[in-house]
Amino acid sequence: MPYKPQSEPGKTDYQPDVQITTLGEKIGDPAAPADFPKHILRFRNDRWDQSVGLDELSEEQWLNHFGKFEPLADNLDPPLALRYHGHQFRTYNPEIGDGRGFLFAQLRDHEQRLMDLGTKGSGTTRWSRTGDGRLTLKGAVREILATEMLEALGVNSSKTFSVVETGEQSMRGDEPSPTRSAAMTRLSHGHIRIGTFQRIAYEKNEKLMHQLVAYCLDHYYGGAQSGDPAAELFAHATREVAKLAGAYMTAGFVHGVLNTDNINITGESFDYGPWRFTPYWEPAFTAAYFDHEGLYCFARQPEALHWNLAQLASALRLIADSDPLVETLETFPKAYGTAFTEHFCWRLGVVSEGFEKDRDLVVAAEKGLAAKTTHIDRFFHDWCKMDDLAKPDELDPEFADFGSLIAERGRSRKPNSRYWQQPEPCSMHIDEVESIWNAIADKDDWSPLSKKIENIRNMGQALRNG
Ligand code: AMP
Ligand code: MG
Repeated sequence: MPYKPQSEPGKTDYQPDVQITTLGEKIGDPAAPADFPKHILRFRNDRWDQSVGLDELSEEQWLNHFGKFEPLADNLDPPLALRYHGHQFRTYNPEIGDGRGFLFAQLRDHEQRLMDLGTKGSGTTRWSRTGDGRLTLKGAVREILATEMLEALGVNSSKTFSVVETGEQSMRGDEPSPTRSAAMTRLSHGHIRIGTFQRIAYEKNEKLMHQLVAYCLDHYYGGAQSGDPAAELFAHATREVAKLAGAYMTAGFVHGVLNTDNINITGESFDYGPWRFTPYWEPAFTAAYFDHEGLYCFARQPEALHWNLAQLASALRLIADSDPLVETLETFPKAYGTAFTEHFCWRLGVVSEGFEKDRDLVVAAEKGLAAKTTHIDRFFHDWCKMDDLAKPDELDPEFADFGSLIAERGRSRKPNSRYWQQPEPCSMHIDEVESIWNAIADKDDWSPLSKKIENIRNMGQALRNG
């Protein structure tokens, strides 16, 4: 099956629909936003605000909701800091939860999906431990860049919805400090994490586990179809997380912190900290400086996600038999292989010739990329822009196998977008991320960020439409 990227934004009216409270008071705790000295609008997602009917808010209204966090009409009041646990670098941590964010609102999008607006950097909560509840402005800018790039590359990701600079200075051990701060809001297809299930299993709360399984099936997967809802939900999550693994690899993306509290039950990628895009196809490329073992390095991401699914299965054992869970868990490698092949062919823009031939093509491309003579984005860009796919003689020798396999293929899109005329691919390597941030830090110059977002969105358009 050809890969189908997530939906495009559309237009709808504001449709509040608070469902989280049906799960009772053990799912989250009332939270209060911090009282920030300033509210300066730095980013408003003008693609996605219309999709939840918030595009007509004035700037003042926007800042009231996404800087001061005044509740949206008929929505959560107060917001809820969600409870969860998680395995962090494989060690179980029962002390975490929303420590610098909360679920601010729930509302329907243009496809009637139940969406969450969740915050990061909005102040301390019951779960902050020793943290300050804040997000650095650099962290917010990095999250904008990651989410825009992933969306363009067809990865199922949360959207950065709003960034408001708060006028506060924060201290960080790993950034020049004091540093500017921001309150960020993300638009996400839910905030139920594997860690949410782990916490409920830890507390042996069978009733809530049943309720949460039903909630996820109803709101994210079209409702229960069988007499074994936990196994059914696990099958959905396994399929979607396998797709996520395939998408990360195709994008050359390294999330950096694939802990179970950062994995959404919908398989939507979210929570961007020390992420990076690897320039070359380098299996050991690691994003987080504190990931000393390379646990979450580029090529180990599918394995890390599979391991996380095993933790979900283990939590679901509270209310389900193990056999169907284990059976589903074993489907992951194949599901991942299929998802990776489909996504890679989508990015190449070639017509599918069935799984086996597609897989052989991807293996040949990977072999060429593994020689590390060509950046990943350059490779895709050059193929996508070519008038004629059949030019194997122009290829470097490491891509000879790829060239002979691709020569006979058809295109699935026309390379007629102006984006493809650019000599350079749109990448997101660390030097550029730092230089976009430095323009803001040194001169308060936001134009490199705006230009980059425009270029990324043009690439996304070209990949989707030709
Ligand atoms: P993360 O690695 O960003 O997914 O965060 C892991 C946990 O630490 C979550 O429970 C966060 O809410 C919490 N956390 C991270 N940074 C802060 C902070 N500055 N203040 C309070 N809690 C934080
Ligand atoms: Mg997190």
